Amino acid sequence: MSVDYDVVVIGAGPGGYVAAIKAAQLGMKTACVEKWIDEASKPVYGGTCLNVGCIPSKALLDSSHKYAEAAHGFDVHGIKVAKLEIDVPAMIARKAKVVKQLTGGIAGLFKANGVTGISGKGRLLKDRKVEVTAADGSKQVINAHHVILAAGSVPIEIPPTPLVPGVVVDSTGALEFQEIPKRLGIIGAGVIGLELGSVWSRLGSEVVVLEASEHFLAAVDQQIAKEAAKIFAKQRLDIRLGAKVTGSKVKDGAAPQVVVQFTDKEGAKEEIFDKLIVCVGRKPYTVDLLSDDCGVQKDERGFIKVDGHCGTGVPGVYAVGDLVRGPMLAHKASEEGVMVVENIAGHKASMNYDLVPAVIYTHPEIASVGKTEEQLKTAGIEYKVGIFPFVASGRALAANDSDGMVKMLADARTDRILGCHIIGPSAADLVQQVAIAMEFSSSAEDLAMMVFSHPALSEAVHEAALAVGGHAIHIANRKKK
Ligand code: FAD
Ligand code: AMP
Repeated sequence: MSVDYDVVVIGAGPGGYVAAIKAAQLGMKTACVEKWIDEASKPVYGGTCLNVGCIPSKALLDSSHKYAEAAHGFDVHGIKVAKLEIDVPAMIARKAKVVKQLTGGIAGLFKANGVTGISGKGRLLKDRKVEVTAADGSKQVINAHHVILAAGSVPIEIPPTPLVPGVVVDSTGALEFQEIPKRLGIIGAGVIGLELGSVWSRLGSEVVVLEASEHFLAAVDQQIAKEAAKIFAKQRLDIRLGAKVTGSKVKDGAAPQVVVQFTDKEGAKEEIFDKLIVCVGRKPYTVDLLSDDCGVQKDERGFIKVDGHCGTGVPGVYAVGDLVRGPMLAHKASEEGVMVVENIAGHKASMNYDLVPAVIYTHPEIASVGKTEEQLKTAGIEYKVGIFPFVASGRALAANDSDGMVKMLADARTDRILGCHIIGPSAADLVQQVAIAMEFSSSAEDLAMMVFSHPALSEAVHEAALAVGGHAIHIANRKKK
């Protein structure tokens, strides 16, 4: 039997396209199968992340942040804006342009690196064969030495709130509003709900977030989550915890509205919204991906079962990204793709799952790496805490952006940094500095002894590291004798 490719990747999201490029760079004959096509039937690369996830949401977060700054944040700098307007269709069109530029860029990278893009829906058959069904229904079967499954995830739908185009939407629909909803309901106070809620709240929507759990941002360090809740309340995001949505009904009219039923500790309630965004999580997408006899197994939640190196147990077949266990994050997907391909090429690659940073792109951003205080307590690990508030940072004050703090956690005995949790300006970039230090097994004192530029936001990281040992300079942290 002839083998067509060394590596065939199914799915061209950040897990799949990065794996394909890396495989080609390592000299392997590589194809990437992607089912997404545009209006002209041309393949669209980049997956959820570039098309309807990370990038478009950040484009709208950046546009709406600029608007909110101009509306509420310029006065203090002495800047007067006579008449401020937002052109929502222009904002959405800019977002589409950014997406197009990036997805087109991947097509260019495929070409430059010699990756063959195959348009169609891939299905894994027995013996590392992949059946590809094109949009016109035609089928071909390709053979590969290695197959990487990278089919990603899709939004979860819940029975109480079936989607109604333009009114009850998922995260994808929420990126396409052409006008600002007067009252916007969001189900789920997770990462995506908070980011999308922020976009439309900044533009003037009255946003109500209904969250079934009693705990706000349960996976985040709870001191940071509490600070976030205070800041979001100041931003007039109305987050209702313990509010479980039980039903919805769209009222037709010139401007349709949606009535949402939910229960909280006081009993059954209702709210009326102009639009409702359902953000209750995502699930792995495995529809028609696996033939019955291909040997790949799924767990009870539908994720493809893999080992620590993303092997499925079927020789030569791997799965990465949102399809498998672990956080649903683009950078996690990409690094898994790289690890798999390097191992196929005979390297000894592995990934440090303990150091995958996570960010919520609200303003201020919330970013974390390593263990939370709650996790350390549960594990019975003794730790020291260093905290530095941005209100004591000269750079943050100069920018009038001083909400939040850096919190660093270090081992009480060895001083090794165990976690860092930041809510504040540029938290995503700041936490990466600590992630790098942690990868090199840095102690808090190692960071404390380094020279940081002044004035820079990263001084707050330096001061938090100093604070772990009780030596921060710009806060009153010394106990009276
Ligand atoms: P995907 O990106 O989902 O890509 C899978 C690809 O496979 C798709 O193109 C799909 O069409 C294709 N495919 C599926 N089945 C087949 C098949 N059988 N044959 C051929 N092709 C197939 N993550 C972050 O890290 N940072 C963020 O800021 C962030 N923001 C987000 C905002 C939103 C609104 C959303 C929805 C997600 C966000 N995410 C973010 C999550 C991130 O998008 C995902 O973790 C990431 O895209 C997962 O990558 P993946 O390659 O596993 O899958
Ligand atoms: P995430 O998994 O981070 O995307 O967050 C999704 C959130 O939606 C979780 O915090 C869930 O508790 C919440 N959620 C799920 N179902 C409902 C529901 N019926 N009503 C309100 N919140 C929900």
